[in-house]
Amino acid sequence: MAEVKLVALEKKFGDISVIHRINLDIADGEFAVLVGPSGCGKTTTLRMVAGLEEVTGGSILFDGKAVERLEPKDRDIAMVFQSYALYPHMSVRDNMAFSLRMKGVSSAEKKRLVGIAAEMLGITDLLDRKPRQLSGGQRQRVAMGRALVREPKVFLFDEPLSNLDAALRAQMRIEIKRIHQRLRTTIIYVTHDQVEAMTLADKIVVMNGGHIEQVGDPLTLYRRPVSRFVAGFIGSPKMNFFPARLLADESGLHADLGEGIRIEMPQERDAAYRPYAGRSVEIGIRPEHLLDDARPIDSGAVAMDVTVDVVEPLGSTSLLTFVLGGTSYTAIGDVALMRRPGGRVRLRAAAKDIYLIDPESGRVVH
Ligand code: ATP
Repeated sequence: MAEVKLVALEKKFGDISVIHRINLDIADGEFAVLVGPSGCGKTTTLRMVAGLEEVTGGSILFDGKAVERLEPKDRDIAMVFQSYALYPHMSVRDNMAFSLRMKGVSSAEKKRLVGIAAEMLGITDLLDRKPRQLSGGQRQRVAMGRALVREPKVFLFDEPLSNLDAALRAQMRIEIKRIHQRLRTTIIYVTHDQVEAMTLADKIVVMNGGHIEQVGDPLTLYRRPVSRFVAGFIGSPKMNFFPARLLADESGLHADLGEGIRIEMPQERDAAYRPYAGRSVEIGIRPEHLLDDARPIDSGAVAMDVTVDVVEPLGSTSLLTFVLGGTSYTAIGDVALMRRPGGRVRLRAAAKDIYLIDPESGRVVH
């Protein structure tokens, strides 16, 4: 196991800079997930850690030792890719044992390590098959097994589940989490799927345009996003952002959302929000915090009356879409009400669940 540090890590392809001097600390045994939209630099960062991509500047430390000039084979890492990269002519057993053979491990030890990994992944029955005789999910397990047998210091995963269907992805997610709980090996895992990031990570690293936007545990990122980008990226369905004007009167601060909708700002945020009085801002409210009036809510709530556009029943709740100023927004409704499109509904949110965003900097004002 190892502690991993990225120090002012930089990557250029020709003249184009794609990773801009990022710093990151991953503790020994931590499950870190790099997440962000396509092209933000997740894979490039992971490939630099793996040694598959040269670094342009900065350093990568494993337990304080610089590894950025070492060959991949000398870094004591194991990587699992989206494409399983199995040898088609070899059995599952031989695929899993391949790296051990290269290391000169004895056959008894090879058998033991393959046996443990196969058992952990539930593929003991498949050891004599060839990759073409396996389903996608089974192949991904073999690819993971091949990484597990090496008992590396650091596991690197590059979108390992993206070729699987939704049900299998959910199942494999639980298995990866279970394996990490058992082995406690440091993991760096790349995905563009924020649900995968939320459910797997001890530490989420949100990347955007070659920078790190925010690092934190899943709930901190969900509750205290630093920016509009993180607020919009973490959480599903996505946070609503209402363009508004912040106004002050004798009763305090309120946000005017247009169409007669006015939200009272919580008293305790007065000091932080006061500098925005008279200015354009954005108000962020998550759909799951914008509830119709059948659902209980704390006191100190704000309310807005809107017209329902679309209702999507989900079972225990419904997703309500409504339109304000030509933009669609989402709220969670009580299924029992079965609001009809065109009907009016009062939506409420607790004061603590309202975010104010500086539209110029994109920062969330806390
Ligand atoms: P995705 O989720 O789509 O895989 P990503 O976040 O992993 O995206 P990267 O693959 O790391 O993003 O790419 C980061 C940026 O670097 C992109 O703009 C990409 O076009 C660029 N890039 C990646 N590899 C190369 C290369 N070999 N040559 C030139 N540019 C590259």
